[in-house]
Amino acid sequence: MRAMVLDKTRTSLMLRDVSKPKPGRGQLLVTVNACAVCRTDLHIVDGELHDPKLPLILGHQIVGRIEQIAEPVNQQSAINNQQFKVGDRVGIPWLGWTDGDCAYCRSNHENLCDRAKFTGYNIDGGYAEFTVADARYCFRLPDDYNDVEVAPLLCAGMLGYRSYRKTGDAKRLGVYGFGNAAHLISQIAIHEEKEIFAFTRPGDEAGQKEARSLGAVWAGGSDQTPPEKLDAAIIFAPVGALVPAALRALAKGGVVVCGGIHMSDIPSFPYVDLWQERVICSVANLTRRDGEEFLEIAPQVPVKTKTEKFPLEEANTALEKFRSGKLNSTAVLVI
Ligand SMILES: [Zn+2]
Ligand SMILES: [Zn+2]
Repeated sequence: MRAMVLDKTRTSLMLRDVSKPKPGRGQLLVTVNACAVCRTDLHIVDGELHDPKLPLILGHQIVGRIEQIAEPVNQQSAINNQQFKVGDRVGIPWLGWTDGDCAYCRSNHENLCDRAKFTGYNIDGGYAEFTVADARYCFRLPDDYNDVEVAPLLCAGMLGYRSYRKTGDAKRLGVYGFGNAAHLISQIAIHEEKEIFAFTRPGDEAGQKEARSLGAVWAGGSDQTPPEKLDAAIIFAPVGALVPAALRALAKGGVVVCGGIHMSDIPSFPYVDLWQERVICSVANLTRRDGEEFLEIAPQVPVKTKTEKFPLEEANTALEKFRSGKLNSTAVLVI
């Protein structure tokens, strides 16, 4: 099968003919139709995440059809515990496997599992014609979306949703870095009658205009002070300096949620900016429950995705355009 392979960090992916993977116990063999590109893929290529499997096939927002089910298995999907059958459409997310047995797994924090494996990082992902995945971590996908439209929901959507839920019942919600995840969860937040304050790169007027057209009550640069104190802020941009900036925009008791897997160092700041029970937290990975909830709510809003298609062999172009900020939608590899 054809795959785009990362041999070494800080190098380009190589188009290769590799052997088609064989599903092991409990796994599905999936024909990949679409795989959305995530900022995490860039962090892996750039060597910012430690010890990726190498050589590696990236990609953890995978949409495809089941070609084979390894027997004997308990083929239950994350959603509704329905049985999978050959030909079914499935979504394969970032969380690829957990031990089900550590203190985190047993306390509903499988996102923090000590031995978790992640798709397109510790196990091969979807920048390929076929992939295998543990059936228990695969999702059925809402019929309202085609393969390309639904792909960005599998990470930008699900992890964005987990970040959003961490803001509780905050009414005035700041969002720093108005990219894919922000675009998706703002639609849910507005649907739930929250007020969105969108922060873009200073001077990014096109981005601010877009945020306003999506329904943000205010949009400005990350160097600006919002007109009102915020109840919560989510930071999707991988920029540590935004943490103290967001803290200063918060009302008492507010929370800053860091939604990314990697961020530059956070500069020091005076304690008074944290005082009055302000909170900083991070969001790591997802649980299957987050995914189920998000896939249930997304078609009700309905959350709309914006995508730009690339053929598999142009994965490097897609990554490069993402890196240089030349995409204003989610890149999706079509296979
Ligand atoms: Zn565990
Ligand atoms: Zn991702």
